[in-house]
Amino acid sequence: MEEFNLNLGVQKKETALPEVFDVIIIGGGPAGLTAAIYNSRARMKTLIIEKQAMGGQVILTSEVEDYPGFENVAGITLVQNMEKQARNFGTHIVYEEVEKIMDKGEAKELHCASGKIYKTCAVIIASGAGYRQLGALGEIRFRGKGVSYCGTCDGAFFRNQEIAVVGGGDTALEEAVFLTRFAKKVSVIHRRDTFRGAKIAQEKAFANPKIEFIYDTVVEEIAGDRGVEKVKLKNIKNGKVSDLAVTGVFIFVGLIPNTIFLKGFVKMDEAGYVEVNAEMKTSVSGVFSCGDCNIKTFRQIVTACGDGAVAAYSAQHYVDRVKGTEYI
Ligand SMILES: Cc1cc2nc3c(=O)[nH]c(=O)nc-3n(C[C@H](O)[C@H](O)[C@H](O)COP(=O)(O)OP(=O)(O)OC[C@H]3O[C@@H](n4cnc5c(N)ncnc54)[C@H](O)[C@@H]3O)c2cc1C
Repeated sequence: MEEFNLNLGVQKKETALPEVFDVIIIGGGPAGLTAAIYNSRARMKTLIIEKQAMGGQVILTSEVEDYPGFENVAGITLVQNMEKQARNFGTHIVYEEVEKIMDKGEAKELHCASGKIYKTCAVIIASGAGYRQLGALGEIRFRGKGVSYCGTCDGAFFRNQEIAVVGGGDTALEEAVFLTRFAKKVSVIHRRDTFRGAKIAQEKAFANPKIEFIYDTVVEEIAGDRGVEKVKLKNIKNGKVSDLAVTGVFIFVGLIPNTIFLKGFVKMDEAGYVEVNAEMKTSVSGVFSCGDCNIKTFRQIVTACGDGAVAAYSAQHYVDRVKGTEYI
């Protein structure tokens, strides 16, 4: 079997994957990549299974200013370095979507959408999270035709145009500032009258003359003909309805965990975030979980990496115990 890196330009071609891995990591974002660095450096047979693109959400981030050791680094560069580091220690990577985990006691089977089955002693879940939809009329119809969930990916299409950003968290504010590089005007539409985003993100957004704030307001409809032409807004305090002419709508209203494939397998909360203890152990022996897919208060690259390191450490001890090689 051959293995290629499809995405980040970290070229490596390998043959002959092991029949049974020591650890398989589901997801190639910062949590999964960190776990892979630690496990493969500990000489464990390590595989990352990634369904889309190595790097996870970080590849959607143009600039990262809060990862220690880097004053300002492109998201793609940061995760490219992590991937290189993992590969250099011997991590294998395949592009597949995991659909199901079967617990066969000391061995686990990972069933993929392609029909392939990968076997392993320990599993580390690092499947992260994805965008939440707004649920406004027209959102699905205009997706890719004016509706976007990623400023870095689509901002450049809106040069000198007037656009809307929907949301009130860190991502909405940071993306609104980023989008002013391209757009003539950015209207931030927020359903409350205060922002929950970090103070520094708020300061940057408030200081930007291209950004206008529309408070206490929800988007009821995204409308247009071939592309977006306007959003229909409703003020939730006075009920007033109005139109705002925009050609793009960027939606940043939160995340949903990529954990549907784990339903009924590990313990999760109502929203689908995985329950772990301080050692990143899930409710299933030999299955660990790290990063944005976990129940946690702060979802960032650095916290995902921290979780990944802990999960790798716990997985290593579990595998050694199962193999009878644990150093006590
Ligand atoms: C626009 C944006 C800007 C951000 N800016 C910053 C910032 O400046 N600083 C910061 O610290 N954080 C930032 N974040 C947050 C940060 O990117 C996340 O906290 C971090 O990426 C979480 O890492 P993770 O590895 O847990 O998950 P993810 O990055 O979500 O990676 C999970 C990976 O798992 C894969 N996967 C999911 N399900 C499966 C499956 N069934 N089979 C195989 N693979 C699967 C996904 O394809 C994905 O690649 C930003 C996020 C966004 C969206």
